[in-house]
Amino acid sequence: MDNVVSIKSLHKTFNNANRALNGINLSVGRGEMVALIGPSGSGKSTLLRHMAGLTWGDRGGQGSVSVLGSIIQQQGKLAHTVRSTRAQIGYIFQQFNLVNRMSVISNVLMGSLGRISGWRGTLGIFTQDERRQALKALARVGMEKYAYQRAGSLSGGQQQRVAIARALVQKADIILADEPIASLDPESARIVMDILKDINEQDGKTVIVTLHQVEYARKYCHRVVALKEGELFFDGASNGLSDERLARIYGSSVTSLINDKAPVDSCKKPINSNPINSGDAGAMAFAEVG
Ligand code: ADP
Repeated sequence: MDNVVSIKSLHKTFNNANRALNGINLSVGRGEMVALIGPSGSGKSTLLRHMAGLTWGDRGGQGSVSVLGSIIQQQGKLAHTVRSTRAQIGYIFQQFNLVNRMSVISNVLMGSLGRISGWRGTLGIFTQDERRQALKALARVGMEKYAYQRAGSLSGGQQQRVAIARALVQKADIILADEPIASLDPESARIVMDILKDINEQDGKTVIVTLHQVEYARKYCHRVVALKEGELFFDGASNGLSDERLARIYGSSVTSLINDKAPVDSCKKPINSNPINSGDAGAMAFAEVG
């Protein structure tokens, strides 16, 4: 399988003391939908941010991150080409990152900034076709009728759908979503996860999503990668993530996470074998690391 993310020997230490990532090796293939789980502080967001070149690993190490065949960073330095690679990465934030005072459609149009000339972007001049595409993206996430409303007036779930529409307009090949449903009510969370799953299945986009809620990871993602104290603790099929294994990852806090039920009607998409484990689903189910 064609790898769209390849992380080798990645270490990240904050303030010369706090080791957030400790030798991460991870590959994600094209078209996968992968959940990144683990207790608070285990390094999920830090790892995702490294994939987008929003932060960089320790200098002096041999760590590297490649996305879509381009090096994003190696040995603690961002590649010169990081901006063009980033243009192909859609990043969804927990707190949506919309410009509240601007209209919904203006926020979505910002997704095209990486592809249009700088002066048009600065002046906010978009073509009819770009506007049509923005409305189409909004329709896809069920937000077309809010196109001319101020983004800040929407609910959290609606804002997250607009942020996804922005990533659609960006025509990103890969979506990295950092706790996209953490601050949403269950119904909005289900809608957002359904949309991400639809983009993965219908458009074949690779989706990597950090999730606090284990049940959503199990229900929406065939593959789960679990971090514990900055190390890869589990990488395999979500049906291999037994309650007992979850207890080893989360400790005593696991009950509340498991009871945080996701809707039962969500389906899973079978994926090709995990490139790390490159075995059958049975092998993946027991791919505990370390
Ligand atoms: P998670 O997403 O799993 O909750 P994070 O990636 O946010 O975990 O954090 C991993 C560790 O790195 C934590 O100990 C956190 O305090 C630390 N950390 C994250 N970002 C920073 C930062 N900007 N400065 C200092 N420490 C940080």
